Amino acid sequence: MGARVARRDVEPESRSRFADASPTLDAALVDLDRLMAARPELSAAAGSLATVLIAAFRAPVPEIALHAEPELLVEAWRAGVPAFHAGEAPLGVHSDDLRARAGSLAEALRAINPGAAPLLKALQKGQANPDTWAVEALAGRPEVIDADACNLGIDPALARSIVRLGLLPQLSAHSEKLATIRPSGIWSGGNCPNCGGAPTLAESRGLEQRRYWRCGVCAADWPGERVRCPFCGETDHSRLRYRFVEGEQDRYRLTVCDACRGRLKVTSTLGPLSLPGLLVAELATAHLDGIHFV
Ligand SMILES: [Zn+2]
Ligand SMILES: [Zn+2]
Repeated sequence: MGARVARRDVEPESRSRFADASPTLDAALVDLDRLMAARPELSAAAGSLATVLIAAFRAPVPEIALHAEPELLVEAWRAGVPAFHAGEAPLGVHSDDLRARAGSLAEALRAINPGAAPLLKALQKGQANPDTWAVEALAGRPEVIDADACNLGIDPALARSIVRLGLLPQLSAHSEKLATIRPSGIWSGGNCPNCGGAPTLAESRGLEQRRYWRCGVCAADWPGERVRCPFCGETDHSRLRYRFVEGEQDRYRLTVCDACRGRLKVTSTLGPLSLPGLLVAELATAHLDGIHFV
């Protein structure tokens, strides 16, 4: 019942408007319903995720200019520097958009997570500052968020999630723009060409099963390789092993690299997963975390 309950919580008229405004969100909610029907044990998690998706992705993303000229970005990629770190100016964060999404997430989560109430209070009182947390997250210093959260009596994991989800829509919009100016073949790294993070998921896309890597921080997608570890570059196929749950091998697999012990989930897709679709895929593949390699 989880996701269906959450979808009913949205007023009927806003639900129809919202389908027009965000077809990818609506499609992701339908996928969640399907996932729940196929795997009832995920009902509670799917219901929570539906609440999160609606709170984080319903509002349209404002127009935000890129922080550097295209020529400079292309030069950075050529030199192996991720786009968000190119040039002198830091990546601009749209504060109002981040605050609004963090607020609606905390508000929506109150019903399902007791830790959300202190977070909402701290946000409303201005004690928790999502802008500062965003800067730390983008600089790769999430431990600063943890310390801040602890001082305010907020669950650090929840604070990190709020920043990630609150930022995702605007970072994803950046990634979409960047994808239009990134020359094909210029980025061969296993890390994200935009934020520099490690891939969160791999897609085995289309009939050709081409491999693409996806970033969980900025939703970027970039071409990967089936026989290459994105974490350490290992290309010896005998050292890149697959595991899967019986009966699911065509849909979800887990690869592990013997060289660096890096693990990456692979999901079969027809085309690129949408931003909310990426989070649904994370839930659908979460059980692979429990697979042990010897
Ligand atoms: Zn990224
Ligand atoms: Zn590796």
